[in-house]
Amino acid sequence: MVVLSTVIVPDTQVFYVFSPDVKPVVRVKRGDRLIVYTKDALGGQITSEENVVTSMDFSKVNPATGPIYVEDAQPGDALLVRVVSVEVAGRGFVVTAPGAGALPRLVREARTRTCYVYGDSVEFLGFKLPARKMIGVIGVATSEKAPTGVPGRHGGNLDTRFITEGSLVILPVEHPGALLGLGDLHAVMGDGEVCVAACEVPGKVTIELDVAKNLAPAWPVVQHNGSFYILVSHDKIEGAIEEAVNVSVEALSRGLKLNWHDAYMLASLAVDVGISQLVDPRKTAWTRIPTSLISLENLLNALSELR
Ligand code: CA
Repeated sequence: MVVLSTVIVPDTQVFYVFSPDVKPVVRVKRGDRLIVYTKDALGGQITSEENVVTSMDFSKVNPATGPIYVEDAQPGDALLVRVVSVEVAGRGFVVTAPGAGALPRLVREARTRTCYVYGDSVEFLGFKLPARKMIGVIGVATSEKAPTGVPGRHGGNLDTRFITEGSLVILPVEHPGALLGLGDLHAVMGDGEVCVAACEVPGKVTIELDVAKNLAPAWPVVQHNGSFYILVSHDKIEGAIEEAVNVSVEALSRGLKLNWHDAYMLASLAVDVGISQLVDPRKTAWTRIPTSLISLENLLNALSELR
């Protein structure tokens, strides 16, 4: 795609609810390149291991930079966000809090630990981990008026490690201009994000935007490294997994013109199921469909019928 112009969005322009009521801070065209600066998920309130989340101002948590108004993006369209690069700061924090995470009853007190980013690796407690730089929050305005900490059909706090450099993130546009926002970068995170936090870092994301008319998918889709991921969020992880499988079988049936039973069996052979995160207000599961099996156009056609 030819880049028309480059637009910079500073991290001073943040919001906390994916809602059509939030005024856009910038207007861009499809084909524009954006450099988006992001605060960390803690709103920059943790600056040392002495600071813990229980003393934070929770109205400043999960800031998303934006909203970005994309001309041509109309309700019913798919917004295509190509992630050109994800750059993170050299230092981040991991936090815990009583009642949070996948083992909420076992956390007695809030704690904070520092992690350090050195190029492609992250140092934590003296352990060297391969970096997995990713975008935790990416979404568009929804009538649900979802806080930026909540994932859903609009995207939001998906905390999915495949949303990274080289990914194409596809979101259903619900309101004119889409009103895109993003933030919550992680230097590294394991699937599940079990303690409630990743290595939370501020940073800078470069993206390019496009619109596919009338192809809004039922749930967010990510294309990455030869796979399509369908991301489904639900109050319970079991519900997220069931709906992700259901949508994937339906997509294969419609997109490949197979009867439902054949699509179900094909999914059993070719589709992987996994977990993005277990710790947000809604849990997120994914299914992975090889791009060799179905074209993006056929997948989006099928998923747009499932809205
Ligand atoms: Ca997050």
